[in-house]
Amino acid sequence: MKIDILTLFPEMFTAVKSSILGKAEEKGILDIRLTNIRDYSTDKHNKADDYPFGGGAGMVLLADPVFRAMEAVKAEGKRAIYMSPRGKILNKETIQQLAAEEELVILCGHYEGVDQRILDYWNMEEISIGDYVLTGGELPAMVLIDSVARMLPEVLSSSHAALDESVYSGLLEYPQYTKPREYQGMPVPEVLVSGNHKLIDLWKFEQSLILTKERRPDLLDAFLKKERSFSKDQKKILNKILETDF
Ligand code: SAM
Repeated sequence: MKIDILTLFPEMFTAVKSSILGKAEEKGILDIRLTNIRDYSTDKHNKADDYPFGGGAGMVLLADPVFRAMEAVKAEGKRAIYMSPRGKILNKETIQQLAAEEELVILCGHYEGVDQRILDYWNMEEISIGDYVLTGGELPAMVLIDSVARMLPEVLSSSHAALDESVYSGLLEYPQYTKPREYQGMPVPEVLVSGNHKLIDLWKFEQSLILTKERRPDLLDAFLKKERSFSKDQKKILNKILETDF
């Protein structure tokens, strides 16, 4: 998947060039290309922003350098996204849809935003990462890229299925433990070191249900509404958890 990012701060993206995403780039699964909007300014001081027409606080990204940058990345006909607190809030359905695209163009706003004519001309989809406002679209773009890249085949190791994680599986994930077996007087739950995989799976299922019931009853409702097949043991656990008040 190729992702073009248009930004005033390309240096911020070193964060998505490391760890799992960095490896995905090395393997050629992901190709993240950074374009500095300022390089497309025709102003002798490389100006990329100006005061808003009609007044108001702050500055607005100029249409022309952004337009030229969009042309330079050949954005015509590609799915183009503007990171924006006005947008539709990013969720797992949108992430899975975006992961099916071969190419994406992401525009990171700054200051008070970008000249509306850019969004209109390039038919940009506005996506928000939540109901709060950040200084620029770089961190939101990184959130989007990371969440989308995890859905690409072969980005995660084969033993690590993205759809088994919290929320994607329909429940929140059970607690995780690693070595040592006892830390600060706190032992690892005995079942996890029992070697009995059937019991371990049931324990994980139970813990997931408890956490989801406590923290995200909305998710649990949706989980129960979907048709699923449970083993006899899972049904017993499910009934016990549903009858328990936490
Ligand atoms: N004046 C804008 C408004 O009220 O909608 C907010 C501008 S914000 C200070 C600067 C830039 O940060 C935006 O253009 C956008 O690209 C990005 N941004 C801020 N919060 C965001 C969020 N929750 N989701 C996605 N992008 C966001």
